[in-house]
Order: sequence, then structure tokens, then C-alpha cells
Amino acid sequence: MPDTPQHHDVLIVGGGNAGTSLAARLLRAGAPDVAVIESRPVHRYRPLLSYVGGGEATMSSLSRPADRVVPDGCTTLRDEVVSVDPSAMSVDTLSGRRFTCTTLVVCPGLDEDWDAIPGLREAYDAGWAASTFDDDAAARVWPSMRGLQSGRVVFTVPPEPAPCGATALKPLFMACDHWRRAGVLDDIDVDLVIPGASPLGLDGPDARIEEALASYDVRVHREATVSRLDGRGVTLSTPAGEEVVDNLAFAHVVPHYRAPGWVVDAGLAGEHPAGLVDVDPLTMRHRRFSDVWSLGDVADLRTRPSGGALRKQVAVLAPNILAARLGRPLGHYDGYTVMPITTARHRLMLVEVDREGRPQPTVPGVDLTKPRAVTWWVDRYALPQVYWRRILRGRV
Ligand SMILES: Cc1cc2nc3c(=O)[nH]c(=O)nc-3n(C[C@H](O)[C@H](O)[C@H](O)COP(=O)(O)OP(=O)(O)OC[C@H]3O[C@@H](n4cnc5c(N)ncnc54)[C@H](O)[C@@H]3O)c2cc1C
Repeated sequence: MPDTPQHHDVLIVGGGNAGTSLAARLLRAGAPDVAVIESRPVHRYRPLLSYVGGGEATMSSLSRPADRVVPDGCTTLRDEVVSVDPSAMSVDTLSGRRFTCTTLVVCPGLDEDWDAIPGLREAYDAGWAASTFDDDAAARVWPSMRGLQSGRVVFTVPPEPAPCGATALKPLFMACDHWRRAGVLDDIDVDLVIPGASPLGLDGPDARIEEALASYDVRVHREATVSRLDGRGVTLSTPAGEEVVDNLAFAHVVPHYRAPGWVVDAGLAGEHPAGLVDVDPLTMRHRRFSDVWSLGDVADLRTRPSGGALRKQVAVLAPNILAARLGRPLGHYDGYTVMPITTARHRLMLVEVDREGRPQPTVPGVDLTKPRAVTWWVDRYALPQVYWRRILRGRV
């Protein structure tokens, strides 16, 4: 048992997109003592993983030493949180240290739930399955698909919650466009597995995605999720029963996700089956522990998680933490989120909606759900720069 806890005014668990940008925003607002506990030595801009899977980016282009993204004035603790006691406002780490705090922010992202799909880990290890959602496997996706001449390939969109799950469509469309240009698409059977009846459950954007899928002759398995992998086959669970997609040349199967186990063990989860942190989705304050807050992929915000959503969450949460201490009214997050989807190698549609699925375009008057080359360029080249230079520094 650690004997001398180190105290911080604000302690943030997880120095990913959420934790780093929130720390920067709080420090810019004058917070005197902000510490972030982050276990990994490398920080990744994960949206570029999709482009790694399409041969348009490298892993090194999306990775920076984690120490280099720490905001000025922020204390970084390189350690892994193993348990939290929200009643005592204390956090224990793998190295045996204990930290206490006045305000706790929980944002460790989601964990891959490998146990939910028996055979998936083994298929990744064997090399016939991979996905852009796994940092270690993403670099194998494009080499597995680039030279394909014929055969059957399956792509899956994970059920929610998932980190911007709709972007699982990006590698599919980039590969299909590549195969068409290479003149081999007619010899490749492409299957897509989606958890809903339509790709996004949003009429206008769905019509565009369905059109693109039809143009590449993709066979869509609807209301389907992957239940196991074996013998170069993927078994699907569908309303009509089990279905097997087999004889696969390659499987782009995205794991299912859930909150880290210690979130649930700490009593921070609510009724969400994936153990998400039980916050008021408007204020992001924990429903039972008033000094605990959460944002990002792990928070039950009743919207689809994404990095784009974090821009809005951070802008509401940083002032809320400071306002709560002064007894002032708290601001509300409207559930804004983004789904950037390539429909070809160099064309992208951007879907931006609020919690109710109502369009929330960043650029008014332009229908960004129409696939365009310029939107692709912004997503591939401009946004990473905005991320490193502005979002992580609390300037957006
Ligand atoms: C393939 C892919 C493509 C994506 N594309 C897009 C896109 O195009 N647009 C978009 O808006 N979003 C996209 N996203 C989603 C976006 O990356 C996430 O929504 C965002 O990163 C969530 O931030 P977060 O800080 O909540 O979680 P994370 O980014 O997962 O960060 C959590 C951090 O907490 C740390 N951590 C976890 N557990 C512990 C612990 N116990 N102790 C200490 N530290 C811990 C982790 O190391 C990590 O650094 C994509 C994600 C993926 C995987």
C-alpha cells in the first residue's frame, strides 16, 4: 500500500486526445495545478490510422513522443492507473503510487474487447485478419490488400461504443477504388458487415454511402455483428441466425469495445452494457460523484464517440469544472460528433450531427456530406496539423 499520496488539484486519467486537450484548456484558463496520468510513451493521432490502412500515411507520420505533446505547465505522470476510489478521490497506479485530487477527470478511452470475438486475436496473429483500429496491426492492412488480384475480403463496422466506428468504412472504400483502378475489382468479392439496418442510421448521408457501396458492388450484411473467426471464415450473428463468410483472402475485422475494467470496479459505470462512465451527458459531471467528470470515448454521452466531438466537449467541460467550484451554472454539450468517410481514394464526405442526429455543419451553407476532393485533403493533411498545433494546445 502506498504511504504518501501525491495530491493534485485536477488529476486527469488518460493523456490521449481528450486528456491532453482538456489539460491545455484548463491551464490556459488559469488552473494552477493540472496533472495527467498517461501510460504510453507515444501519442498517436488516430484518425490517420485509416489512411495508413489505405496506403496514404505511415505510422511514423501519426506518432509523436508523448512527452512532446504535454501542455506547458502540466505535470505528466508516466504510469498506468489500476484502480480508482471516487469516494476518497484517490487513484492507484501499476508502479505502486497513490495520487489524490480535488477534481478527477476520467478519460482513458475504450479497451478492445478481444474476448467478445473468439478467434479474432488468433486471426490477427496468423496475419489473415487485421484492422486500422489496432495500432499494432494497422500497418499490415494496406500490404495485405494492395496486391490482391482476386478472392473474397470482408470489412466490418463495429457496434457502438467504438472510437469513430463509422471510419471503419474508410479502408473499404479506399481499397475498392484502388482495385477498380487496378482493373481487378470484378474478381474480388467485397462483403461489408454493419451493425445497423443502414450504415449510419441517417437518411441523407446513408443514401450517399449506399450509392458508393453499390458502385463497387459491395455485398452488405445488415444488422449483423461478428461472433467468431476460424479457418479463414467469419461467423456473423444476424436477425436470421448465424451466417458464415468464408474462404477469405483477408478480413478487416474491427474489435468490439468496452470501458476499462477498473472503471466498472470503481463504481464509475452506470447502466451502459459496455461500462461507460455514468455522467450527465449535457454537463459531463458524474451523476453520483460530483467532483468526478468524464469525456471522450469512455464517457456515456449518448452520442457516437469521435475526436471531432472532443473539440466541443473540451470547450464545455473546462469552463464547467471551474464554474462548479464557484457554484455557477454549468454549460451544456449538445452531443456534436463527426463521421468523416472516404468514398474513394481521394474523396471524402463529412457527416456532422448532434445527439439527435440533426445536421450540425461546421461550415454553414456547404453540404459537406457530398464527397469532395477538398474535404479529403482537409481530413488527410490539414486536420493533423490543427490537431498537433492547436487542439492539443487548448487553442481550439
Ligand atoms: C482507426 C481510427 C480512426 C479514427 N478516425 C477518426 C476520424 O477520422 N475523426 C475523428 O474525429 N475521430 C476519429 N477517431 C476517433 C478518435 O481517435 C477518438 O475518438 C479519440 O482519440 C478519443 O480520445 P480519448 O482521449 O477519449 O481516448 P484515446 O485517444 O484512446 O486516449 C486515451 C488515453 O488514455 C491512456 N490510458 C488508457 N488507460 C490508461 C490507464 N489505465 N492509465 C493511464 N493511461 C491510460 C491511453 O494510453 C491513451 O493515451 C478514430 C479512431 C480510430 C481508432
